[in-house]
Amino acid sequence: MKHRIDLHLHTNCSDGLSTPLELLEMVRRRKLAAFAVTDHDTLAGYLELRSLLGEGDPELIPGLELSCRSGNGELHMLAYLFDPDTEPLRVALADFQNKRNERGREMVQKLNEMGIEINYDDVLEVAGSAAVGRPHVAEALYRRKAVASYDDAFRRYISNRGPAYVPKQSFAPAEAITLIHNAGGVTVLAHPMIDGAVDRIEELVALGLDGVEVLHPDHKQNETQKLKEMAARFRLVWTGGSDFHGRGGRCGSVGSEAVPIECLHELKKRASQRQALQKRGSV
Ligand code: AMP
Ligand code: ZN
Ligand code: FE
Ligand code: FE
Repeated sequence: MKHRIDLHLHTNCSDGLSTPLELLEMVRRRKLAAFAVTDHDTLAGYLELRSLLGEGDPELIPGLELSCRSGNGELHMLAYLFDPDTEPLRVALADFQNKRNERGREMVQKLNEMGIEINYDDVLEVAGSAAVGRPHVAEALYRRKAVASYDDAFRRYISNRGPAYVPKQSFAPAEAITLIHNAGGVTVLAHPMIDGAVDRIEELVALGLDGVEVLHPDHKQNETQKLKEMAARFRLVWTGGSDFHGRGGRCGSVGSEAVPIECLHELKKRASQRQALQKRGSV
């Protein structure tokens, strides 16, 4: 296991259920060589984990999963190896979080207009320090007994076509890629087989995409093969991870995908190349 890594993990700083410390304990038990916390649009989980690491712990890679616009839908862009203390990145993420909280308020308002008794504080209580998202609204509705289950909340109110749905703030793919490159990092298209993101690879490569997530619990074996071929064709680094969220459904357990450490070596090479290019560009 010492040479295995997991480059796609969530904590309760976004929509996962585990605290950063609980996640670290799982990573230690799995004896991973390296890992990346890739919470949605926030560095809070990463920053907390960074402060928890001790001697002999696996290597923690700076990570993010950025929500990007894609036609009428969304695609997810993983980011790695950037400098997490870069000011423009911090500002962009803070702005994003503020807008997400505003959106949470709007969804609560729509639910109230439909006669459902829920207030924004109920949602905040579920979200804790995480930016408000639909999973928190769903859980709050369930706790209030306004719905029969978490899934029922989506079915009745907040699915993409639901009556209380409000679209989410997201980055343009070019904006996300530039933000990360300027912070010295690299970008990887997350789970390309979800929502047809794979069809946009060529376009994203032209924008500077560095890699593609090949190993993911949602990918079938023939899809994994196809994605590996695409990575080679477009000279992309291939990566993978469990997309662990701590709840069932479409995610694995910590370290569940057999991602070799060589993927990380390739990502690091790519990041150094990018940084050299950035430096040349700025003189
Ligand atoms: P948000 O980013 O706030 O729009 O929330 C998106 C998250 O809500 C997804 O990552 C899923 O965890 C969850 N979600 C979205 N649609 C559904 C659905 N139809 N049923 C259950 N969960 C969903
Ligand atoms: Zn998630
Ligand atoms: Fe995702
Ligand atoms: Fe994810």
